[in-house]
Amino acid sequence: MSKQILVLPGDGIGPEIMAEAVKVLELANEKYRLGFALSYDELGGAAVDKYGVPLADETLERARQADAILLGAVGGPKWDSIDPAIRPERGLLKIRSQLGLFGNLRPALLYPQLAAASSLKPEIVAGLDILIVRELTGGIYFGQPRESKVLDNGERMAYDTLPYSESEIRRIAKVGFDMARVRNKKLCSVDKANVLASSQLWRAVVEEVAKDYPDVELSHMYVDNAAMQLVRAPKQFDVIVTDNMFGDILSDEASMLTGSIGMLPSASLDADNKGMYEPCHGSAPDIAGKGIANPLATILSVSMLLRYSFAQVEAANAIEQAVSKVLDQGLRTGDIWSEGCRKVGTAE
Ligand code: ATP
Ligand code: MG
Repeated sequence: MSKQILVLPGDGIGPEIMAEAVKVLELANEKYRLGFALSYDELGGAAVDKYGVPLADETLERARQADAILLGAVGGPKWDSIDPAIRPERGLLKIRSQLGLFGNLRPALLYPQLAAASSLKPEIVAGLDILIVRELTGGIYFGQPRESKVLDNGERMAYDTLPYSESEIRRIAKVGFDMARVRNKKLCSVDKANVLASSQLWRAVVEEVAKDYPDVELSHMYVDNAAMQLVRAPKQFDVIVTDNMFGDILSDEASMLTGSIGMLPSASLDADNKGMYEPCHGSAPDIAGKGIANPLATILSVSMLLRYSFAQVEAANAIEQAVSKVLDQGLRTGDIWSEGCRKVGTAE
């Protein structure tokens, strides 16, 4: 039976970058005889417009049936003032949690051709190749109770909850160790165990999981220090494993070490490596519709899809090499452009 790939272009630059990524996916499909069947649906604002909700039940069902999902980006000013319960981002959080996509892989890799585009000095970032493993379906983004209210004295107050269970920590820690094992056997677990109870459990459980991975060198770091070390000496890291919010922040920070968020793919996996693949960036409403967005993050997400959901290593490597070749040729979208390069649009 053919493998089903569900494509969700989304909003803003989503459809523009997806059109290019799908060309690459179709080419790989043909050349490597992958037998993929592509189908399309909407998520986010586009789904609000079509179905009245950011993730329709029928779309969720299609996502459950699919073998992998390729997503563009969601959100935009058009939906900023709608009912918060049906904001585009809700659709994204819902599909992640409903499909149990708890393991978010965010590589931050500096292509040598783009050293000039990094926010840091070349000697600090040359050869940078980090993988951030972020817990994606737990922690403070989903924790209950959460509330905004007015106190008896008339003052407004609000709070969130940061829960993690042992099993949630264990399964993401395993992803971290497994990734470290196939890379450089070095894992740094990032938490705030000097302050947070959830982080103390995090650290204890990671230590327990480490017993099954004696070949991997484990270290722990507080998140504030990790934020500092990422810009001071990022090459000390290989694989970082961390919770939902810390991972959100650190991976955006790491993206700037590599030049542009327009270059960074991501994978979100469940326990069986079924995955959703998307660029790390958002829908970039400021450049939507202009044909200038960088499609490489989405094209590299196709490479991750082939690698992690289908173990098609040859095809995945070929796509990464093709991206490198394009950069060698001096072709650049605006976000990664530098002196002496030729500026091109999304489609080119
Ligand atoms: P989200 O909340 O969805 O993560 P965001 O507000 O963090 O969105 P992005 O949509 O990621 O923001 O955009 C941040 C900046 O990066 C914008 O200036 C945008 O134009 C730029 N940007 C994002 N993606 C790309 C891309 N693929 N190519 C070029 N520029 C991009
Ligand atoms: Mg963002």
